[in-house]
Amino acid sequence: MKIHEYQAKELFKRFHIPVPEGAMAESPEAARRIAAELGREQMVVKAQIHAGGRGKGGGVKVVRGPDEVFTAAGGILGMNLVTPQTGPSGQKVRKILVEEARPYQTEAYLGLTLDRNLSRLVMMVSPAGGMDIEEVAEKHPDLIFKEVIDPRFGLLTFQSRNLAGRLGWTGAKLRSGTALFENLYRLFMALDASLVEINPLVVTVDDQILALDAKISFDDNALYRHPEISELEDSFEMDPLELEATRQHLNYIRLDGNIGAMVNGAGLAMATMDIIKQAGAAPANFLDAGGSANADRVARGFQIILSDKRVEAVLINIFGGILRCDVFAQGVIEAAKKAEVKVPVIIRLEGTNKKEGQRLLDQSGLEFSVARDLKDAADKVAALAGGKK
Ligand code: ADP
Ligand code: MG
Repeated sequence: MKIHEYQAKELFKRFHIPVPEGAMAESPEAARRIAAELGREQMVVKAQIHAGGRGKGGGVKVVRGPDEVFTAAGGILGMNLVTPQTGPSGQKVRKILVEEARPYQTEAYLGLTLDRNLSRLVMMVSPAGGMDIEEVAEKHPDLIFKEVIDPRFGLLTFQSRNLAGRLGWTGAKLRSGTALFENLYRLFMALDASLVEINPLVVTVDDQILALDAKISFDDNALYRHPEISELEDSFEMDPLELEATRQHLNYIRLDGNIGAMVNGAGLAMATMDIIKQAGAAPANFLDAGGSANADRVARGFQIILSDKRVEAVLINIFGGILRCDVFAQGVIEAAKKAEVKVPVIIRLEGTNKKEGQRLLDQSGLEFSVARDLKDAADKVAALAGGKK
């Protein structure tokens, strides 16, 4: 789960990580009031969306005084912000952060995340802050410095000092920098984060170390331990179909293709996506209805796929084990009756009660083509959805 910058900065404050003073607003009037309260000469108005690169996309404006804040807020609120991370369709801005502008001397990058190859948390810094870190990693990997954290000991003092040293910090900055790294690690562990990033982490003109940006992602599997974090979720930022799927307890991820895929079991879902690709087409989604799905779950999953306008054909691939084929067929028939099925549907059924399942489908009066096997299913669906790509 992701949260907004203004929410991440509130959490930073709780863990004594210094951030600029500011507050969130949803209207230009509220933005003006915040600006008047801040009373700073220069302030920043920042679009709050779950994507980085807002600066480049025109979502961050430095202005003077409450009236300019009001105008900038009016321009940013409601805009469709396109950044390299939002994709071409962009994201509508509904909230802004109004905060004091803090002039700075240098900007660094700081990140903490899990390295899945090492099975360890890794804290990373780079003096090439403010830039897109993926670009730095690609073009100047020598400018990224890492400390691998042993879970038995946590982030050790010498590691924090190494990182601060890499950023050229000495004296008071070395001390406040290492304290910041330790606080960030405490936050990460205490809140079950999966990624924390500060880009840029700056040294202000008055020599303070300050987080100008803040990004936190949380481990969804640990959210049950943090109800106050779950409440920070902004449903506007979620894909509407993914949101609906989450409500239905379905494992659904939207992809770029045009073949809807409905499968029971994550492994089979992966294999189905592979075989769709091999047939020259592309899946529109990953959907695992669950090995133990019932007719109702199948129906809801099918409805979500059918409400995706990009879907030009649907491949249903079910292995009847815990979910028997006849139960599954009932679910599909139920869903097909409720939703208007305008696209061709190919079904491959295998396993327990296959015959009964097929009979139900045949007798339903609905149009499905039944595939002999997985390869046949993928070829059929690829041909229907506009042939090879
Ligand atoms: P994004 O990463 O989405 O582009 P940032 O929060 O990093 O958004 O802001 C973009 C840039 O705007 C920063 O790199 C920094 O130069 C400037 N900026 C952001 N907040 C402030 C601030 N409070 N004071 C001064 N400059 C800021
Ligand atoms: Mg940034």
